[in-house]
Amino acid sequence: MDASTRTATGESDRREAVVECSRVTRTYERGGSGGWFSFGDGNDARDDRPTVTALEDVSLTIERGEFVGLSGPSGSGKSTLIHLLSGLDSPTDGTVTLAGEDVSSLSQKELTRLRLEQVGIVFQRFHLLPSLSARANVALPLVERGMGKGARREEAGDLLERVGLGDRQSHRPGEMSGGEQQRVAVARALAGDPLVVFADEPTGELDTDTGAVILDLLGDLAEDRAVVLASHDEQALARTDRVIRLRDGRVKDA
Ligand code: ADP
Repeated sequence: MDASTRTATGESDRREAVVECSRVTRTYERGGSGGWFSFGDGNDARDDRPTVTALEDVSLTIERGEFVGLSGPSGSGKSTLIHLLSGLDSPTDGTVTLAGEDVSSLSQKELTRLRLEQVGIVFQRFHLLPSLSARANVALPLVERGMGKGARREEAGDLLERVGLGDRQSHRPGEMSGGEQQRVAVARALAGDPLVVFADEPTGELDTDTGAVILDLLGDLAEDRAVVLASHDEQALARTDRVIRLRDGRVKDA
């Protein structure tokens, strides 16, 4: 199923690319600055450094209305792809277009704004601030966007209602179940109404039934934006419209 068949309105044929990448390659230099493996004093001959090709010649388009799975064995490039598509990292080669903007043409400040406005991320381990209430956690991205206190409170409350936690607004993460915490994280990812939500193994810490609630919720959200679900779980992937499968940094089939 795709954007044109999901939408049962007169606009059904209008397709809108939310995020695209064209011939994207990302290599990392072992021992180079910014890499994970920072050793040596940085004076080695650069040509002698082995490089790791995390992604190679990847092209894909994700449209509004799509719930897309992303799978592949560990080390196949999923995190690298999510970082590139969400504007957290830049490709070594090729182009990433997010919400119509070529990411590499933007200044850091413009890119930060674009991410803040158009991208929501849900992590495996929720990443909520334990000292804050559910509502304050959801409102955090709205603080960064400069929204006033009253409006933040209202929007965070509405988002918690939307994920079925209208009666848990003042609870702290430690007072909620794993599934509830993940619903708070989904509500936070929706703050500001982003065009695309990336969910990285969002059910990895949850039992099957609780995970299914989160997957239903993510599927619903894809009706008016795009949702990308990175997962190893074939049952979870089966709920998406299509699956992008990575192997050794390349797309196997899309
Ligand atoms: P996945 O998320 O599918 O496990 P990653 O995108 O994390 O895969 O990694 C893809 C490849 O790139 C792996 O070989 C990994 O070791 C390598 N890699 C990822 N990030 C870095 C980095 N910052 N520095 C060096 N190598 C990296």
